[in-house]
Amino acid sequence: MRAFNFSPGPAMLPIEVLEQAQGELLDWHGSGMSVMEISHRSKAFEQVAAEAEADLRDLLAIPGNYKVLFLQGGASAQFSFVPMNLAAAGDTVDYVNTGHWSHKAIAEAARYARVHVAGDAGGNYTRVPSQSELRFSEDAAYVHYTPNETIGGVEFGYVPETGGVALVADMSSSILSRPIDVSKFGLIYAGAQKNIGPSGLVVIIVREDLIGHARPGTPLVFDYKEISDHQSMLNTPPTFAWYMAGLVFKWLKKAGGMRAVGELNRAKAAALYAAIDASHLYRSPVARDSRSWMNVTFTLGVPDLDAAFLAGAAQAGLHGLKGHRVLGGMRASIYNAMPLAGVEALIAFMSEFERRHA
Ligand code: PMP
Repeated sequence: MRAFNFSPGPAMLPIEVLEQAQGELLDWHGSGMSVMEISHRSKAFEQVAAEAEADLRDLLAIPGNYKVLFLQGGASAQFSFVPMNLAAAGDTVDYVNTGHWSHKAIAEAARYARVHVAGDAGGNYTRVPSQSELRFSEDAAYVHYTPNETIGGVEFGYVPETGGVALVADMSSSILSRPIDVSKFGLIYAGAQKNIGPSGLVVIIVREDLIGHARPGTPLVFDYKEISDHQSMLNTPPTFAWYMAGLVFKWLKKAGGMRAVGELNRAKAAALYAAIDASHLYRSPVARDSRSWMNVTFTLGVPDLDAAFLAGAAQAGLHGLKGHRVLGGMRASIYNAMPLAGVEALIAFMSEFERRHA
């Protein structure tokens, strides 16, 4: 009875994780309490927090000179945390603009610093700029980009080279989808509700030398140094989401870690794009070298069929396929918890739908 949920986030969670959480919901590890009901300052929760961090460090091979923070406020709050902590008033900050989410990050950063747009693939955001198209400023405090644009479905196949300037990445919709070299980044942030766990949590991986430079007036709970000095427990953290993230990290390790998970994600995306490219009805608007592994956008050559497509899909147990309201069309978000069987079910439905409407 579980649906295949292609929603961009909050997104599907692994069934094994949901079952484990269900099994220990009323009595967590013999405590007679839910993990939701215990103090974040208890030894027991400290253990949950420490294990989640250790497992994430293990999964992404996070070097020792990086801190891992678990916070509230979603990825959107990081749009302001980043300039408040990494740039002084009047500093220039470089942003690569590849679509909806980088645009939002730019608008927020412009309230705190001078934004230079270092790259913009232009047009309808159907591709990412290449390294040679990026134009960084001389003296940027940092370079920010969005490795995967959740709405447009465009993804960088490379990590921009910034010539030593700290690289900041909004990895909300691509973290843990494939191996990454954390040492190439100054700071990574990701809202949890796609590949990490339930919403209400954002994970930050930040190089130590970037901590401790918050501009005067930064609220304490927004200051990476304060947060880090208090192990992300300056105030009450989203404990249940943090616990769930920990279960997801263990699930990913059991699945073989980033290399195995990345291979599966590559296969899932390749199968879906191949089906789209082979059809006469569906079309991917995204340039081949910029296609997202996580958010596959496509349109129907006959837009009048959109409603019938969505209704038929829902009947077949395939949910959340409607594209973002600003773009229209369809979007299949196929994060880690979407099994290959879900992608295959979608491909089978698409093919049958096309045959019926040929
Ligand atoms: N950045 C990206 C790439 C996203 O996909 C999203 C949410 N879909 C956000 C930022 C905003 O996240 P939140 O709702 O957690 O603030």
